[in-house]
Amino acid sequence: MSERILHLSAKEFEDELKDFKGLIALDFFSEECPPCAQLAPIYVRMAEKFPDVKFVKMLRQANRPLAEKLGVKGSPTVLFFHNGEEVGQRLSGYISITQARLALEGLQGITPEEIVKEKVSADVLILGGGPAGLTSATYASRAKLRVIVVEAGLAGGQAATTYHIANYPGTPGVLGGKELMNNMIDQAKGFGTEIHDLQEVVSLDLKGDRKRIITEDFEYEAPVVILATGAESRRLPADGEADFRGNGIHYCATCDGAMYQDAEEVIVVGGGNSAVEEAVYLTKFAKHVTIIHQFDHFQASKTAQEEALANQKLSVIWDSEPRSIVGEKHLTGVVIENIKTHTLSTVSANGVFVYIGMQPRTSSFADQIKLNQWGYVEADDEMHTNLSGVFVAGDVRSKTVRQVATAVGDGAVAAVNAERYFASRKSS
Ligand SMILES: Cc1cc2nc3c(=O)[nH]c(=O)nc-3n(C[C@H](O)[C@H](O)[C@H](O)COP(=O)(O)OP(=O)(O)OC[C@H]3O[C@@H](n4cnc5c(N)ncnc54)[C@H](O)[C@@H]3O)c2cc1C
Repeated sequence: MSERILHLSAKEFEDELKDFKGLIALDFFSEECPPCAQLAPIYVRMAEKFPDVKFVKMLRQANRPLAEKLGVKGSPTVLFFHNGEEVGQRLSGYISITQARLALEGLQGITPEEIVKEKVSADVLILGGGPAGLTSATYASRAKLRVIVVEAGLAGGQAATTYHIANYPGTPGVLGGKELMNNMIDQAKGFGTEIHDLQEVVSLDLKGDRKRIITEDFEYEAPVVILATGAESRRLPADGEADFRGNGIHYCATCDGAMYQDAEEVIVVGGGNSAVEEAVYLTKFAKHVTIIHQFDHFQASKTAQEEALANQKLSVIWDSEPRSIVGEKHLTGVVIENIKTHTLSTVSANGVFVYIGMQPRTSSFADQIKLNQWGYVEADDEMHTNLSGVFVAGDVRSKTVRQVATAVGDGAVAAVNAERYFASRKSS
């Protein structure tokens, strides 16, 4: 918890607001609220970055009259006050670090040209702090190189978002994804890796001898870069997806499943391992879970299928795909099409979790690095990309098996070859 953030009651806040000259940010949050949990570290970062602003947090459930008076209906909602009056645009839902920063810079009249970036020089820069990036970091740090992991969100990657990992060797069998990733973070840090999280890339130049990565806070420079930006969920191709994303449509059961405690019905879309395993996990919260799958059989492992099909709270609708989302303020169902008969029907639901595959995260460097036809980074067995001094590791690489075990394998190979490249450059 940051000392810069005050936790106030409605009465304390109103007293504070009366005489305060300057800018106050007020975050109405709730417990058991995934977007609030996502905002928490961003709010701390903003409090460090904007020392002239007073940052306040207030538990909405405990201060309902003030929330209602201010017209705050959902959590999190961030409001801004200048000299006691509300100013600027409110932020709500899943708030990114960029949205928060732009709002505060706008209210303070700060232009992009005025932002002084700290210049940082490293031996190896690693873009992405998932299993691949953290493994590269451990190896390269152990080789006594100065390693910085530049991470857009919080380190841990996709693996930190799954409730259990049962197939990663060397663990007791079933381990929480977050626990596994916290171990990897601690291990990398223990060998000297610096992790700079919440750093969205503004621009990047991978060509030439010194590579440069620019974020809002830093200008990084290094002779070696390892790309380990992983992959993200493919969005559900159904009308209304964007309107309900984060509020009815979800891509992470571990993050958002608890929102559906005692919900009547939750839908999971997909038929691979992630869909089937996360559907079983969601039966811990919802009264019933329906999997909607486009084929008449699952692609998931036999073990995962058996567990799902034996679960009394879970059923499957085969041969069907969602076409549109139903609901006004809240999601109430999904229109699905049977792809054999082309019949449309509506399935009532409180929430939908989507597991229909992944797409690589390459937008910040796609114009500089050779990608294959599906957008994954091309590399040889030693993780060299088409640019000298630029290596790749993990799910973002062109390959057939995307798992934690393969990501860490790539990470090790990329780091060893990065070390060799670094040494050869120094000796030449
Ligand atoms: C729900 C789910 C369940 C899974 N279950 C299992 C399992 O049981 N066993 C198993 O082995 N695997 C499992 N996987 C797959 C496994 O999590 C991935 O294969 C693995 O995390 C890939 O690691 P990575 O480091 O390549 O990429 P990621 O884990 O995707 O990490 C990439 C990191 O890079 C960051 N990043 C992205 N773009 C940028 C940028 N421009 N700048 C800076 N940072 C950036 C991201 O924020 C992220 O932290 C599961 C995946 C999911 C989604």
